[in-house]
Amino acid sequence: MTANVTVVGLGPMGATMAETFLASKHPTTVWNRTASKADPLVAKGATKAATIADALAASELVVISQIDYQAMYDSLGPAVDALKGRVLVNLSSGSPEELRKASEWASEHGAVLVTGGIMAPPPGIGKPGSYVFYSGPESALDCHGETLKVLGDVTYVGDDPGLAMLYYQAQLFLFWSTLSSYMHSVALLETAGVSARDFLPFAARLVRELAEEGPMAFLHILTDEIEAGDFPGDLNSLKMQAVGAAHVVEASRDAGIDTAYPAALRDLFERAVAAGHGADGLGSVIEALRKP
Ligand code: NDP
Repeated sequence: MTANVTVVGLGPMGATMAETFLASKHPTTVWNRTASKADPLVAKGATKAATIADALAASELVVISQIDYQAMYDSLGPAVDALKGRVLVNLSSGSPEELRKASEWASEHGAVLVTGGIMAPPPGIGKPGSYVFYSGPESALDCHGETLKVLGDVTYVGDDPGLAMLYYQAQLFLFWSTLSSYMHSVALLETAGVSARDFLPFAARLVRELAEEGPMAFLHILTDEIEAGDFPGDLNSLKMQAVGAAHVVEASRDAGIDTAYPAALRDLFERAVAAGHGADGLGSVIEALRKP
């Protein structure tokens, strides 16, 4: 017997989550502020709750996917009496501090809040390779982990309600900044007639090598240096790299493209150099990041 689940919020993410639960034979109740978004899911077997109180009454496990945490208060606030005994799993975006407060709010109303960050776009939900960071009371995941596994691998990171969101944001920042760097590089090369397709093999090679073994495996090299607190720069000093970053700014300006992103990088490197890290290596930039 598969467990009941309620999904609150039927944007691209919530609607796909509801579909995924239905495909795994979980009796699924749905609720959305704009009620008509539930209709295509009803056609696939979901139950449309007439009120948020009905949605909460239908399942112990309530998965929430909305634009932010304010939406949760707006939606659930009018039905706080129905929260008692519910396990709310909120996969919406927010700040870690906001999530910690939301956890207290849920407790005050007799519910348990598990916070999460899902590492997949809608088409990836429930597909191999998708995973979700969760934090909050582990006992809630012991009870509902089997059901939640339908969305992606359950990755529990700790009881601090803000922690899953921090992991999620750390990954998202890596994702956005890496891909924005790629787009800057493409824009720069395009000015000399090189297409994105021509550049792709080189970009893919570098991104792959950063995470592998060998002389370019800087994810590992920097991790070792950060753990040791030692940033050797005798072979490639930060001073040299700050000058190189300034050249990327000049190249971008000369090519007539935006300079904001490389300029931010150059400024960060120069700040680390000014703080005394010129002879250290790239890893010493973390010292400048730690002390803004
Ligand atoms: P949105 O972030 O646009 O959220 C849409 C949902 O939020 C709708 O159900 C909408 O209701 C609801 N909503 C917005 N404001 C309120 C409110 N004040 N009260 C009640 N409901 C409200 O769409 P997504 O589905 O893309 O994202 C959902 C969450 O998932 C976000 O926090 C996002 O950061 C996160 N996420 C998204 C990914 C993606 O690729 N899309 C990937 C990973 C995480 P209504 O229909 O009535 O407007």
